[in-house]
Amino acid sequence: MIKISFQTFGCKLNFSETTSILSHIEGIETVSVKDADIHIIHSCTVTEHAEKKCRQAIRHAATVNPDVNIIVMGCYSQLRPEEIEDLPNVVLICGNESKFKLGEYINDFKIKKEVTEKVHNDNPQQFLFHPSVSSSARTRTFLKIQDGCDYFCTYCAVPYARGRSRSDTTENTMRQVKEAVVSGTKEIVISGVNIGDFGRKNGEDLYGLLKEMCEIDGLERIRISSIEPNLLETRILELAVEKNIVMPHFHIPLQAGTDKILKLMKRHYDTRFFADKVNEVKRFMPDACIAVDLITGFPGENDSDFMDTLSFIKSIPLSYLHIFSYSDRPDALASKYPEKVSNETIIERSHLLHELSAEMMETFTASFRGKKRKVLFETRNQAGKWTGWTDNYIRVEYASDENLRNKIIEVAVN
Ligand code: SF4
Repeated sequence: MIKISFQTFGCKLNFSETTSILSHIEGIETVSVKDADIHIIHSCTVTEHAEKKCRQAIRHAATVNPDVNIIVMGCYSQLRPEEIEDLPNVVLICGNESKFKLGEYINDFKIKKEVTEKVHNDNPQQFLFHPSVSSSARTRTFLKIQDGCDYFCTYCAVPYARGRSRSDTTENTMRQVKEAVVSGTKEIVISGVNIGDFGRKNGEDLYGLLKEMCEIDGLERIRISSIEPNLLETRILELAVEKNIVMPHFHIPLQAGTDKILKLMKRHYDTRFFADKVNEVKRFMPDACIAVDLITGFPGENDSDFMDTLSFIKSIPLSYLHIFSYSDRPDALASKYPEKVSNETIIERSHLLHELSAEMMETFTASFRGKKRKVLFETRNQAGKWTGWTDNYIRVEYASDENLRNKIIEVAVN
């Protein structure tokens, strides 16, 4: 048995891929890093900070266990293996294709105590679609349905790291859905890089997949982990209301609150379209939770742009914000843009946005306090209370002596 420890950074996709990749490797035992023969790091490149965390994790692992062999895989190692290669104890670097062959390399290592090739530079043009699925406490299943992206937003490194948009067929995806439901899962969270682009290159689409998923007996909840505003079609909202299985919770990347910056980002909509889409969601599902991604400090964003962004956010019914501080991605176009915003200003703006988001979240949650919502209970917290998410993504605690794990019951929001 080889003793393995692992760390995953980044998006839900990375987490479900780590679970899938490790589940296909035989003869391994999961331990803590200090006892491990091999420590695996699934890296992220979405921000400079994410890459720094990956380098820190490598040095930390080598410090707590000087004999450990470190494998780094994923987006950061796909784009800049040279920044990782000479870090302590790193023996293998895999990009976003070769990571799916980790079992072979580990078997190799088991026999030879060394790897044949240290750095695997993968060609994004040759990336395949690799399904992956993971579950949290076997209540919610995270199902990867799509990978890569063709949008090339000017701040984003993902298309360079994960390649062009691709997805599995509806038939194969439905097979995984049925397996998850048979294994007892009540909620499936569909994940990907640009989920709304599912099936486009196979002549299929997300609406068709959701329609089939809604017919599966035993599947009580479908959660869309994130979707581009221009791909959240009206018929998807109609289906969500008709079938009452697609959860009233939408994570929709906005990124900026002015048309000037959205244009510089090469996003596929303007503020008018975005506001109309948010209001449409609320017309169909008044209790829906709508969270948006927002980048602060994009090159060229001046004080009045920022003030306009704050006013735009306050003008539409949002529930909370995911805030990212802009950082140059070497592969992305915006890294060459002039008018960079200073770090102090980015920190200041990010602080103001976090304050606003906390107020929005409190207003949203307070509007449901004391009212009954369906909750999928997952685990007990330290206080012994059961915890879970409502349909519209509010975290709820509930005291009960009964075993509520994987049960959906209506309780008052607290
Ligand atoms: S849609 Fe834009 S931000 Fe999202 S992964 Fe694609 S390029 Fe990146």
